[in-house]
Amino acid sequence: MAGVSRTRHNQRSIPHAPEVHTSAFPMHLSASRANDFLTCPLLFRYRAIDRLPEVPSAAALRGTLVHRALEVLFGLPTADRTPDAAADALAGAWAELAADEPVSAAVLLAELGLPSGEVATSGEIELARLSAEVSDRILEPARPLLDAYFAMEDPTRFQAHAMEMAFDVPIHDTFSIRGFVDRVDIAPTGQVRIIDYKTGKAPSAGFEAKAMFQMRFYALAWWRMTGQIPHQLRLMYLGSQESLTYVPEEADLVATERKVLALREAIAASAESGVFAAKASRLCDWCSYRDLCPAWGAISPPMPALPVQAPPITGRPMDAPPAAGLPDRANLDDPEHD
Ligand code: SF4
Repeated sequence: MAGVSRTRHNQRSIPHAPEVHTSAFPMHLSASRANDFLTCPLLFRYRAIDRLPEVPSAAALRGTLVHRALEVLFGLPTADRTPDAAADALAGAWAELAADEPVSAAVLLAELGLPSGEVATSGEIELARLSAEVSDRILEPARPLLDAYFAMEDPTRFQAHAMEMAFDVPIHDTFSIRGFVDRVDIAPTGQVRIIDYKTGKAPSAGFEAKAMFQMRFYALAWWRMTGQIPHQLRLMYLGSQESLTYVPEEADLVATERKVLALREAIAASAESGVFAAKASRLCDWCSYRDLCPAWGAISPPMPALPVQAPPITGRPMDAPPAAGLPDRANLDDPEHD
């Protein structure tokens, strides 16, 4: 992808929108759901319309723990943002997960071959049963990701402007883009940097554009809310200690907006016709819905009624405190982390 810079860290060291469909669905779209539709329209339908449950993978849950640990870390005074503090935050994130999401905790226990069926079915987990040794084994694969983070940047040297920032930004009268940004930095010069952490490895050469779409989506949101084009978009791949960076220009964001509105049109047309085609690819290997997929010999269930969506929220600065009706990770239909 032209303009994307790749860095390996081995040591510390507003134009007018085009016309859009007037159908009520979808009234908003996240980068994750947009990517789903581009990857496979049927996957989008199962997640956004049928809202079929999915059990998160152990890797995705580890990603959630690492994101939470980094969020907690940046809540500390700068001098206290040490690797030990990050390790404590990681342990705290696991304790939170075990207490609040026993089914998810059971996935991590099952990965280690530890008894988890009882936990998953009863919906309860006894923290007392989670010995220090078990917790240690659960967190072991996540610790290198935090080590990688500290190898890539020094969090004692700057203050984050915002962490886990919710946004819901209208880009048309009846349509908004929404989601969560992992981190926003604003330099003393006023330059804005938008950061997203990935716990996997950086995509191979030639696949950066797809990865950067999410960041352009965030940059578009920031631009539409503040009138300011971010100076830099940065994807931090903790799994391979690599960063992809991109300096967006107005033309990029205009093109992104047109692409999002065109996607909205395509989704609205599919919703009206009831046709969300299965698009098989190697990603099917990780899809939760293969046993409901015509591409794999199954019969797709009838499409339910379109979900009622909250109308787009207008006029909220992206760095303002959450307001009633804003997306909340607990009930957002399209979790962003991976
Ligand atoms: S199995 Fe593949 S084709 Fe079927 S819904 Fe999932 S991603 Fe789409």
